[in-house]
Amino acid sequence: MSVAVYPGSFDPVTLGHYDIIMRTAQVMERVVIGVLNNQAKKPLFSVKERIAMLEDVTAGLSNVEIQYFEGLTIDFARKNQAKVIVRGLRAVTDFEYELQLAQTNRVIAPEIDTMFLTTSLKYSYLSSSMVKEIASLGGDISEFLHPQIARNVLKKYEELTCKEIRL
Ligand code: ADP
Repeated sequence: MSVAVYPGSFDPVTLGHYDIIMRTAQVMERVVIGVLNNQAKKPLFSVKERIAMLEDVTAGLSNVEIQYFEGLTIDFARKNQAKVIVRGLRAVTDFEYELQLAQTNRVIAPEIDTMFLTTSLKYSYLSSSMVKEIASLGGDISEFLHPQIARNVLKKYEELTCKEIRL
């Protein structure tokens, strides 16, 4: 069976991520999305919330599942018998970091390959952090996220603002 893992923070899942998930699900028999808890990135949503949102948007894709993971991506891939790690490439800015990551992983785990999918043009500028910045400033994020995810982001910022006012 062909299995791929797609690791990331997904804080929150965007239409750009979804595009990569959908395209991977068309060429692989099983896709395991790995949600990382990268505290250095100061996530807006908890891992549980991020997984719930991913489950929601991928509900129609029967060969896609979501798992939490920590540690090395190659260990996560091995645990799922995946031979492929999927990453999305947006612009040149992604390239150097992704190349370094892929080459390092290949040295440690030669049996696992990294597969890059280039973004669909209309999402090539899109990132979770950009979406969060726009939302925190009261901007419209409906072009970038599934409607239910956009609602969650707005709700989260409302809660955070209420908390700040109370303080
Ligand atoms: P990470 O913390 O690993 O950067 P992200 O959730 O930001 O996690 O991204 C996970 C993966 O999805 C990365 O390979 C990233 O390049 C890719 N990705 C992020 N945004 C997009 C997008 N708009 N289009 C395609 N791929 C994307």
